[in-house]
Amino acid sequence: MHLDQKVSLKALHTFGMEVEARYFVEAKTQSEVLTLLNYRQMIHMPILFLGGGSNVLFTRDFSGIVIKISAKGISAVETDDGHVLVSVEAGENWDEFVQYCVNRGWSGLENLSLIPGTVGAAPIQNIGAYGVEVKEIIESVLVVDINTAKQRRLTNAECSFGYRDSVFKNTLKGKVIILNVTFKLLNPNLPTYQLTNLPPYQLHYPDLQHELASMSIAAPAIADIREAVCRIRRRKLPDTFVAGNAGSFFKNPVIMKEQLDSLKATFPDLPHFPNQGKGTIKIPAAWLIDQCGWKGYRNGDAGVHPNQPLVLVNYGNATGRQILDLANQIMESVKQKFGILLEMEVNVF
Ligand code: FAD
Ligand code: NAP
Repeated sequence: MHLDQKVSLKALHTFGMEVEARYFVEAKTQSEVLTLLNYRQMIHMPILFLGGGSNVLFTRDFSGIVIKISAKGISAVETDDGHVLVSVEAGENWDEFVQYCVNRGWSGLENLSLIPGTVGAAPIQNIGAYGVEVKEIIESVLVVDINTAKQRRLTNAECSFGYRDSVFKNTLKGKVIILNVTFKLLNPNLPTYQLTNLPPYQLHYPDLQHELASMSIAAPAIADIREAVCRIRRRKLPDTFVAGNAGSFFKNPVIMKEQLDSLKATFPDLPHFPNQGKGTIKIPAAWLIDQCGWKGYRNGDAGVHPNQPLVLVNYGNATGRQILDLANQIMESVKQKFGILLEMEVNVF
């Protein structure tokens, strides 16, 4: 392991800001992570774990140690109930892992194709797309406490998953490192799969259905679903190598029916998705931001993507502070117009 000083983080996060870590080290195995924890207890300085850097915004240099989690490894066992349990080290690239499963016909993750980042970060905000959330496929998460170095395996229920939320964003925030995630995937190739009575794929998301129809595929195989998701994403989302971004900057707000009814009186076209649990309703944040006139806005190199207003963009040399100021202005105007407080999805440092 190499502990380097004054390391640029520009190429290590997808927003691409020119910021520096006082110390930087890459942990390529679980035991290297544990060694680093002991070292950190000796020197007492701020610590930041980085996966693929696709959900972070740096607003300043980081004055402690940045540890990039790069441990790799995948192992799988078949169950006797039509599933396969796949145990994956935190530093595996998310989309390469999805491809690995699709190649073997193990279903559950194909709708989450092409999401940037690592396996270890996936449970943190319970990544989701095209009608699937990763909580539906997570069996357990192995973590280590950064103060005691004690390891613990959390069951799915103990992760308290919610919409883009989990225990790792709440009570365990900054307290544990995720070392390994175990997924429970369907294996339609096993004879016991027939006993599960489960559909092999989730095809209800409208954009996914339209894409498969445009590909003239009526009965998709798993590889077709991955291909359809990749096609939509490549078309709709900005390439982080062309314009720095961290995907959706804000969460979609979830409101109660009374608030929806009162908003509909003024905004009859307000799109909304009911059945989000406990009688709540999801409102697309992109629509709210668009209605406030932000779509395509640009000030210097900080902007709002012209096709997807949920995505804030660094067109070159924007600072994290400029992106954060823009985010705050957007939040303020949405609050003024709709009385809804947007919540940031991206982790700001
Ligand atoms: P990082 O950005 O490196 O880290 C995110 C947070 O997790 C940080 O606070 C970091 O300290 C912490 N962390 C990272 N690894 C660990 C670990 N092993 N242990 C403890 N803490 C850790 N998200 C979705 O949900 N759905 C999408 O469809 C989606 N699409 C995206 C599209 C684009 C173009 C981009 C840029 C982002 C998108 N995202 C999406 C957001 C992002 O890809 C996910 O949140 C992803 O899981 C982040 O992984 P990462 O490894 O890059 O995490
Ligand atoms: P979209 O399909 O244009 O839909 C806009 C929003 O409406 C989405 O955020 C989605 O919520 C919601 N939605 C659409 N149809 C829905 C339905 N039938 N039921 C419930 N909610 C519905 O969205 P998009 O921007 O192109 O993104 C496509 C998918 O990729 C979405 O699932 C989105 O979450 C995901 N994505 C996430 C990020 C990120 O950084 N978090 C970035 C890019 C794409 P949900 O977001 O809850 O699905």
